[in-house]
Amino acid sequence: MQLLNQQLLQTQSFINNQWVGPANRATFDVINPADQRVITSIADCGAVETEQAVKAASAAFKSWSKKTAKERSAVMKKWFNLVSDNMDDLAMIMTTEQGKPLAEAKGEIIYGASFIEWFAEEARRIYGDVIPTPLNDRRIIATKQPIGVVAAITPWNFPVSMITRKISPAIAAGCTVVIKPAAQTPLSALALAYLSKEAGFPDGVINIITSSRAAEVGKVMTEHPLVQKFSFTGSTKVGKMLMQQCASTVKKVSLELGGNAPLIVFDDANIDLAIKGTLASKYRNAGQTCVCANRIYVQENIYDSFMERYKKAVTALNVGEGTKPNVEIGPLIDENAIEKINRLMNDALERGATITAGGNKHEAGKLFYQPSIIEGCNSEMAVSREEIFGPVSAIYKFRTDEEAIQMANNTEYGLAAYFFTQNIGRAIRVAEALDYGIVGVNEGVVSHTEAPFGGMKESGIGREGSKYGIEEYVEVKYVCIGGL
Ligand code: ADP
Repeated sequence: MQLLNQQLLQTQSFINNQWVGPANRATFDVINPADQRVITSIADCGAVETEQAVKAASAAFKSWSKKTAKERSAVMKKWFNLVSDNMDDLAMIMTTEQGKPLAEAKGEIIYGASFIEWFAEEARRIYGDVIPTPLNDRRIIATKQPIGVVAAITPWNFPVSMITRKISPAIAAGCTVVIKPAAQTPLSALALAYLSKEAGFPDGVINIITSSRAAEVGKVMTEHPLVQKFSFTGSTKVGKMLMQQCASTVKKVSLELGGNAPLIVFDDANIDLAIKGTLASKYRNAGQTCVCANRIYVQENIYDSFMERYKKAVTALNVGEGTKPNVEIGPLIDENAIEKINRLMNDALERGATITAGGNKHEAGKLFYQPSIIEGCNSEMAVSREEIFGPVSAIYKFRTDEEAIQMANNTEYGLAAYFFTQNIGRAIRVAEALDYGIVGVNEGVVSHTEAPFGGMKESGIGREGSKYGIEEYVEVKYVCIGGL
């Protein structure tokens, strides 16, 4: 991979501001999903190095937490500038290991960097309260202090922003962190680590463990008594297990888990907006996000006209290697992703659905899939319960608002939901009725640093980004001053 700054390409774990590998020099390969070639081999660390990183973070916490918010903020701003200045290289690294088109990769770097900037600003606004006293001889003060060492595990679909969304509020509050990125996308994480050292973070504030043995590393992170907080983004299945592991030491947890996003197109929608929003929500990152529209409900009386235009737009999407110009859909992450789509498609077809666009692998390569549409879906199908995580639109027809809301809420997930209508009354009624942490009205892409991201029900616990994001990394301490 040719970069402007070749130093960004690191291959070892990052502990205490040093590049570290395991004693046995074990490595694992990072693969380019566009052509299945090995990009490089990475240090395959385990429990020993994770423990080392936790101890480094614990030692660093003593001084980092004592710095003033303004001092922490200053280092964060330097890091933000470095990430922004190296955007082209970071985007190239991301596209090479993850597959998303370069334009989307750049968008993610901007989004990812924005968390560093936002929380550098928020660091100075972690206010407490002086509470009116019930007794005149005492005063009541509530302050917020950093919780301690934070351990976090992140997924492969957003290799930069899922990391900065956790690290930034943590270090802004005065915490120190140990992160394990997904084994598919460690290079972006290590490039961020390299830039953090350049920015001047003290030893041990940011630590990155690269590993192919997630369970082994996860066990140390969730059970180590020096870790006070565990933050995870990934599947609901793994999240539930890690939450259970955290119970052994009663850690504070944040979980961003799976979604099963409904997207409703009402008969009074602005169809141009609805097509644009549905495409953006469904096909971003080739459908591999936890907020991608998973079930698309279209009202009966506009069904045919909407679908005719939607089909045209979907089949026009440009599929190919992410580094090529004008590509809109890159490869899927691995063979399992293709197998999952095939399984969901076959199940839907057996239960009466029809493919009306795509439906096959794409000629661009082994891990490419045609932008597809299946119509005639119903709640009996696996596709209505599981995350598709691929470029396939599952379409359902509905008649009344009540029916749409009931179907939309008929899931154990509650991350994102979207709907399109021009009617203000309907917009408010439906937004309030949807059991989701994030609701997009006439908009298919709603993630912003300034807004709280997170799910209800089995989609997770806690919120990331926004003024709420920092709450996950502080403890409220009540100080009673008596004898006045
Ligand atoms: P995905 O489908 O996105 O790969 P996962 O939940 O499997 O979802 O992975 C998200 C993150 O969780 C990755 O960093 C992965 O390595 C990690 N992970 C997977 N299984 C475990 C586990 N048993 N313990 C700890 N971390 C895990």
